[in-house]
Amino acid sequence: MSARLIDGTAISAELRNKIAQAVTRLSQEHGLTPGLAVVLVGNNPASEVYVRSKTAKTTAAGMRSLLYTLPDTASEAELLALVADLNADAAVHGILVQLPLPPQIDPQKVIEAINPAKDVDGFHPLTAGRLATGLPGIKPCTPLGCIILAKSVHASLAGMEAVIIGRSNIVGKPLAHLLLAENATVTIAHSRSRDLPGIARRADLLCAAVGRPEMVDKTFVKPGATVIDVGINRVPTAEGKNRLVGDVAFAEVAEIAGAITPVPGGVGPMTIACLLLNTLRACCAANRLPDPTL
Ligand code: NAP
Repeated sequence: MSARLIDGTAISAELRNKIAQAVTRLSQEHGLTPGLAVVLVGNNPASEVYVRSKTAKTTAAGMRSLLYTLPDTASEAELLALVADLNADAAVHGILVQLPLPPQIDPQKVIEAINPAKDVDGFHPLTAGRLATGLPGIKPCTPLGCIILAKSVHASLAGMEAVIIGRSNIVGKPLAHLLLAENATVTIAHSRSRDLPGIARRADLLCAAVGRPEMVDKTFVKPGATVIDVGINRVPTAEGKNRLVGDVAFAEVAEIAGAITPVPGGVGPMTIACLLLNTLRACCAANRLPDPTL
């Protein structure tokens, strides 16, 4: 491979280390401990893995981790009641309801029930609106992780041609706003875009958030481009197990890209580190303290 590997595992560990130091200072100087409540409904195996990892890393950063598990059969009213309790709990600075939710629960209703000040996932419409209009506020974790990874390669993203494949509310759209705020020139492509490889080849910075295993092959990539792979796809192996692959055909794209994130070990660990960052920031904001310097 000729591309530089963007090591999300190492970059996220460094960020979590800085967050842990800021948490220690917050405790020493103000007697505060940031608290993150994670709510898991049902037993989706992938969600259980994510939640375990989130709670372990929250504790490791010196924060309070509160895990609430509800059965698969929980009603929407039960979950909304729990969210209302967490909204009212002063020791909880961040609330994350792990998605997907069982079919009887409307995820949008749950997202909108979270106090925007505790919306550390950054999915609430008010948070999205602040981001879209350039107001200060919480930045969604995965897109923020993508920006940090891109800036580990390029000190400035200003003027770069950025192409995002995918327009979801949790990745593609907020990532576009963050890139605009970095003064990149942004194109969002999606399933109805014509000549997707041609659009993607314009990119100095190509971000794939599609959910299609290895769809982005070398025909999508301008030589030397930086490629950020958000995709997490489980594909069956010949041995009957699962392996994780991204939306990018890593081996062939790494031959022509300038820099590339792996899957696993790229965007995934950054998402959790940015969740901790958002919880720390929410705790500071709730206590009228300035945004922490890391
Ligand atoms: P999503 O809500 O399913 O959105 C996928 C987007 O890709 C949609 O905008 C869709 O277009 C577009 N798309 C689908 N097929 C396409 C095609 N053949 N050509 C062009 N565009 C296509 O997915 P998401 O939630 O954004 O997640 C995307 C991927 O990122 C998934 O693999 C997910 O697991 C992963 N992810 C990773 C993290 C992390 O922490 N690393 C976090 C979140 C998500 P339309 O809008 O036209 O349908």
